Amino acid sequence: MGDANGVEVFWHEGMLKHDTGNGVFDTGMDPGFLDVLDKHPENSDRIRNIVSILKRGPISSYVSWNLGRLALIPQLLSFHTREYINELVEADKEGGKMLCGGTFLNPGSWDAALLAAGTTLSAMKHLLDGHGKVSYALVRPPGHHAQPSQADGYCFLNNAGLAVQLALDSGCKKVAVIDIDVHYGNGTAEGFFRSNKVLTISLHMNHGSWGPSHPQSGSVDELGDGEGYGYNLNIPLPNGTGDKGYVYAFNELVVPSIEKFGPDMIVLVAGQDSSAFDPNGRQCLTMEGYREIGRIVHLLAARNSDGRLLIVQEGGYHVTYSAYCLHATLEGILNLPKPLLPDPIGYYPDDETFPVKVIETIKSYQKDKVPLWRNS
Ligand SMILES: [Zn+2]
Repeated sequence: MGDANGVEVFWHEGMLKHDTGNGVFDTGMDPGFLDVLDKHPENSDRIRNIVSILKRGPISSYVSWNLGRLALIPQLLSFHTREYINELVEADKEGGKMLCGGTFLNPGSWDAALLAAGTTLSAMKHLLDGHGKVSYALVRPPGHHAQPSQADGYCFLNNAGLAVQLALDSGCKKVAVIDIDVHYGNGTAEGFFRSNKVLTISLHMNHGSWGPSHPQSGSVDELGDGEGYGYNLNIPLPNGTGDKGYVYAFNELVVPSIEKFGPDMIVLVAGQDSSAFDPNGRQCLTMEGYREIGRIVHLLAARNSDGRLLIVQEGGYHVTYSAYCLHATLEGILNLPKPLLPDPIGYYPDDETFPVKVIETIKSYQKDKVPLWRNS
């Protein structure tokens, strides 16, 4: 028997109308010498499969559906600057714009972005109003790279950041964000960099800065500023870290940090691009790893936030495996005793020897530098 009541999914099919086009992977470019181009990796198929696995997969009986809604412009100003939002509104009026590499605001994209933000706010409000314990904002375009004043990495509006701010504005004292997307959650980190009320933790590949839209490096020394110093914990992991390495990082770094912080709300920023087969990442998680992460996050919520957990969908670009990995994550969060769905393709060998060494090094660094770790 599992001990959770189920997952409340927040979704609106209008988000499928964000059309990112075709090209060489995510460039939007046709070089003229290829017969077959890719769909942009952040396409609607990936999300359609998540919707359908939740409706028709074995987890469906644990899932309830709620209709998402558009965010209102004033709501966006709790996280984003007015200048940036005006820039997006103008770009939409003018028929679209490439905001930075791979990040295309096309006709229909702005409404989808407003739906993603509004739907995530609804999912958080459901928890704040006491109507449920676990909400999942099934949204696109993703959000965690969107900074207060600029777009980045397929993201326009920071859906998770807006939800965190809503929680704070509604009386939550401390919110913890755990980001398992394979990329650094730089936008969310930036938004709360000077706050000690929000603990942002990101596990990601060590990709560093990728240009003006992503000046942050994601390295261990980006710890926050002023009052927020020590409340942004970066966990850059080596390529190929795998299931055992991730679980080690959770047990050694994430769990103790959250226990010391004591949040009254937890947000899991969930990207399946940390899977073994993602075209955008090399971290080699399989369904079993996602299931274990889900279980650990479930326990953290049970012990700290009265079980309250918001899950926000981010990346995850393998069109079929992402849906399976999300299914496994929810199995873990529901604390189900046995897997509901076998892994159809998880076959890479797992070797945590090197990741464990890296994680131990990060732990020594955090013990030395992070007030949360020192005062215990
Ligand atoms: Zn990502």
